[in-house]
Amino acid sequence: MDIMDSSNGLRAVRAGSATGAGLAGWQADTGRTVELVRKIPVTYWCPQGHETTPVFAELAEAEIPKTWDCPRCGRTACRERGAKADRPGEEPFKSHLEYAKERRTPQEAERVLQDALERLRRNRG
Ligand SMILES: [Zn+2]
Repeated sequence: MDIMDSSNGLRAVRAGSATGAGLAGWQADTGRTVELVRKIPVTYWCPQGHETTPVFAELAEAEIPKTWDCPRCGRTACRERGAKADRPGEEPFKSHLEYAKERRTPQEAERVLQDALERLRRNRG
């Protein structure tokens, strides 16, 4: 009974497809299916102003790359025209602590140690 049902369904699909002309008819005749994948063109602009529009298969917004290598100059293109994707000079961020460490000379370190020892002695005494 199950087999009968599915064959009936198959026949119904074939009959429906046969009425279609063109691509739909060809697909039905050959039994092939053309996968209709939606393509999204995404435009990127590099800092030089070159425009490139790669086409992606359907992707969630989060999956679309934020940047794209410019095929003309190799710089990093991004999705906003005029945005600076190139990182301006990789200067490491210095925290206040790091500046403090730099300023601290060995003499200062010694003094800090002496102060600590003195305080310790005072507490004992
Ligand atoms: Zn470019």
